[in-house]
Amino acid sequence: NDDLLKFINSILNYAKIESQGVQLHLQSRDVNVILKEVVRKHEFLARVKKIKVSCELEPLFPIAMDPELIRQVLSNLVENAIKYSSDETEIKISSSEKEGFIILKVKDQGPGISSDDLPNIFMKFFRSQNAKSSPIKGSGLGLYLAQYFTELHKGKIEVESTVGVGSTFTVALPLAT
Ligand code: ADP
Repeated sequence: NDDLLKFINSILNYAKIESQGVQLHLQSRDVNVILKEVVRKHEFLARVKKIKVSCELEPLFPIAMDPELIRQVLSNLVENAIKYSSDETEIKISSSEKEGFIILKVKDQGPGISSDDLPNIFMKFFRSQNAKSSPIKGSGLGLYLAQYFTELHKGKIEVESTVGVGSTFTVALPLAT
């Protein structure tokens, strides 16, 4: 039920965005606070798989953002990291500031993403062959929306991944929008 509800919600979210676009409701927020909330929300899922989630958060000034959208971006990345990783692995989350950007990283020790799949993972409805043939559920919309929402903030989302080693997703948000 939960999986189906999640799937339906992502499709509805996507349909709404495609038809109306998204308006940013900007508020001044400390992204570390949002990161901690996202981690707390996923604690149970991580505990079930004995995945250790550690955070290294640099003190940050609040920036103008749409907190709901940034929460969705970070939730998708943390959820994927937990979902695709094996039991008893580690996820490292960090925040820092560099050259006018806040840099957020979610690093996992999951299966990694093949170089054939890497250019496609931010496309709508894309799921890797491995993901499709595994019992891991998904709509293929999470990263598409994460990229869409990040770019609405004039930010960038990138991934570095090695098969069998893991993946690191990086979100860079400009300090001034
Ligand atoms: P899904 O709903 O399938 O998780 P996403 O848009 O969030 O959709 O991700 C697209 C695809 O990228 C996934 O199906 C999976 O193949 C791959 N992927 C995303 N995050 C990870 C990760 N942390 N480790 C390995 N593969 C990932």
